[in-house]
Amino acid sequence: MIAPFIHEYRASRVVFGPGRRRDLAAEAGQLGLRRLLVVTTPEQSHLGREISQVLEDACVGHFDGAAMHVPVEVARRAANAARDLGADGCLAAGGGSAIGLAKAIALETGLPIMAVPTTYAGSEMTPLYGLTDHGQKRTGRDWNVMPRTVVYDPELTTSLPAGLTIASGLNAIAHAAEGLYAEDASPIHKLAAEEGIRALAASLPGLLSTPHDIGLRGSAQYGAWLCGSVLGQVKMGLHHKACHVLGGSFNLPHAETHAVVLPHALAYNGVCAPEAMAALSRALGGGPPLDALDEFYGRVDAPRSLSAIGMPEHGLDHAADLICTAPYPNPRPFIRSEIRAMLQAAFEGATRPCASSSPHGSRR
Ligand code: NAD
Repeated sequence: MIAPFIHEYRASRVVFGPGRRRDLAAEAGQLGLRRLLVVTTPEQSHLGREISQVLEDACVGHFDGAAMHVPVEVARRAANAARDLGADGCLAAGGGSAIGLAKAIALETGLPIMAVPTTYAGSEMTPLYGLTDHGQKRTGRDWNVMPRTVVYDPELTTSLPAGLTIASGLNAIAHAAEGLYAEDASPIHKLAAEEGIRALAASLPGLLSTPHDIGLRGSAQYGAWLCGSVLGQVKMGLHHKACHVLGGSFNLPHAETHAVVLPHALAYNGVCAPEAMAALSRALGGGPPLDALDEFYGRVDAPRSLSAIGMPEHGLDHAADLICTAPYPNPRPFIRSEIRAMLQAAFEGATRPCASSSPHGSRR
């Protein structure tokens, strides 16, 4: 039976294909933008220069100071640069850090955004933004920061190092996995989530040995687009709350944190989300879903432990408290003792997380 649902379309234009970055001047023209500020991280300054050349007269400058979690001082400097240059829009080229900075500029100035994503994080498909001030990350949702046009060019992802390819791909899979059981997911969101996981699961293992394979890069980016659009349209649950706390309060690397936590969050929630787990299993090729995920993690040599990515063990109690403060909507209630146990397992890198058999507590 189809459960009752509401599905709302929020339009953004998506242009996909190898070499499509060369259409950026025409795409800017379609939006009526003639004075774009190009935004990148320092590491991808060369990409900013390449895109500035493609844009020709439609580029007024390049700001290459984007940093993880969008520090407010950086956002302020970038917004001032946009004003000083008389920019009429921002073009972010890079991962979630560059796109996050463009969103912060949009928040302050109202300028429209174009995005050219080069990781699988998915920020380009969401109205979500974050800003960090004195170590405190503030997040919000505003449709004005959602990019108007997104150009996916798989050629720009061949330079992603193997570790980030896998971690970022699992970051994307995590959006879709939580979308499968989101309380506000429509049938279309669920189809997109399952197809997004399938496309990433089919492409990530091969990218370890052939990182320049444009077909595989395209499949991974197609999956990331679908997973990112799910993240942007439905409410996330325990997994995203846990990663938000761990990244924001303990400064853990974003993509790797998602990769480590995902099997544990799904082991916690699975008992209350049988349809989502069945869809996950189909997307991963069949079998018991947590076993299929574990086998996939082995094939892509995924990060497994919070300890290995910088989490201090003495912080686990505090993290459990923060996760249980203002819980996100979730198929299973947040149970503090169970979440503390989940964090311990993730800290130690248990390869086969212990699934909960009861919605109300007590692990098998
Ligand atoms: P990132 O943007 O911080 O990139 C990590 C590093 O990889 C950077 O040095 C970057 O320059 C480099 N890089 C990116 N693409 C590359 C490529 N193709 N080749 C070589 N190097 C490349 O990492 P991320 O995981 O994409 O983004 C993380 C940030 O995005 C976090 O701050 C997170 O909170 C945010 N985020 C926001 C949303 C949202 O919806 N608002 C969604 C996902 C992530």
